Amino acid sequence: MAMLQIIKYPNKILKRKTVPVHGLTSEIKKLISDMIETMYANGGVGLASNQVGKNLSIAVCDISQNKKSPMVFINPVITEKNGESVEEEGCLSFPNILLELKRPDSIKVKALNNKGKPFAIEAEGILSRVIQHELEHLQGKVFIDNLPVIKRLMVCREIKQNTKKAR
Ligand code: ZN
Repeated sequence: MAMLQIIKYPNKILKRKTVPVHGLTSEIKKLISDMIETMYANGGVGLASNQVGKNLSIAVCDISQNKKSPMVFINPVITEKNGESVEEEGCLSFPNILLELKRPDSIKVKALNNKGKPFAIEAEGILSRVIQHELEHLQGKVFIDNLPVIKRLMVCREIKQNTKKAR
């Protein structure tokens, strides 16, 4: 396994919609295990392939305490959304930014797992939120895109200032 570099906003790769995976090649299997390792190493609960510079419809997540229960979503689709909740969210591509976002509370998702087998799950609460966040990445969207324009501009300014400070 290998650690991958996390792409930070506003890199354009994050704005590109990913393409479906056809066939689990050894290269793709390696990418998936590298994505899981990279997510853990950075203390994340989810990661989408375009966050590591790949353009494939693959996301991983793990909200467990012991970090030993990774979930893999290949070509995922949300088939149902219900309810509404507001929670704070972060993103590995936006260091030091936390946002309160309103999202559907529960979802149904279908995807392929790490063996290429179709599965469907219902998720609610944090898991639902993480899956929605990662699947948004796969569509070329980032979480600040859910904010009203004025708030989004404020966050972008904050990111620019943080980047300057880091230099
Ligand atoms: Zn993210």
